[in-house]
Amino acid sequence: MTTFKSLGLNSPLLKAVEKLGFESPTEVQKKVIPLLLQDKTDLVALAQTGTGKTAAFGFPMLQHIDIETKKTQGLILSPTRELCLQITNEMEQYGKDLKQINIVAVYGGANITEQAKKIKRGAHIVVATPGRLKDMIRRRLVDISAINFCVLDEADEMLNMGFYEDIKSILTHTPDSKNSWLFSATMPPEVNTIAKKVHEISTGDYGGDKKCWDKKRRPPIFYCTWERTLYRIKSCSGNESNYFWLCVL
Ligand code: AMP
Repeated sequence: MTTFKSLGLNSPLLKAVEKLGFESPTEVQKKVIPLLLQDKTDLVALAQTGTGKTAAFGFPMLQHIDIETKKTQGLILSPTRELCLQITNEMEQYGKDLKQINIVAVYGGANITEQAKKIKRGAHIVVATPGRLKDMIRRRLVDISAINFCVLDEADEMLNMGFYEDIKSILTHTPDSKNSWLFSATMPPEVNTIAKKVHEISTGDYGGDKKCWDKKRRPPIFYCTWERTLYRIKSCSGNESNYFWLCVL
């Protein structure tokens, strides 16, 4: 049986797993956690709500965070205030045994000054909805210029809600070197068609950002830049089949 320990989680996180009563990792956790614990991974994962996806990206992010520095190292974008609060709550529970981890939720319809104050105290991880975060960046109330990890949760939902331009704008304030982890419950059919097409090609220059290819992996998902993935999910237009993604179902 696969255990959380065998996936590579460290002891403070294993303690949280025990306290939460998680007996074994879910499918998405089994696939994603070992990948995201590596030093540099960009990931696109298909995962529905209720599959344990928050822990799938949350545990690795928490394990990578350097508690000693107060700067913001992780950003999680989510479509709604409810999801933003839910993710923050889950992350706080997962990080309970990491001393002094500070996770701050940033969302519309609540007092911006209060949220800014919390960030000023030092937010290792910011969980945000796109509109409010963009506003706070514009007012220089948050600094995401040195983040190492950026999660886009429920990407399809964010795009459905019209956040594409906001997300694009937010990402211009983040470093190219960050790890980009995208989770989406759906991918338009065109994406899968292209996925299958690319999957049949086992060698060659993909012109993508990473040459990482595993022919045995079923179904395929591929590595590529965040921008291209977003664009692909949004419109699927143009011939971008030379880019590289990795998908985990
Ligand atoms: P999510 O898909 O992230 O919204 O998670 C759905 C629910 O499953 C949350 O309440 C989690 O606390 C819970 N959960 C996550 N991972 C596990 C696990 N390995 N075993 C049992 N419950 C889990």
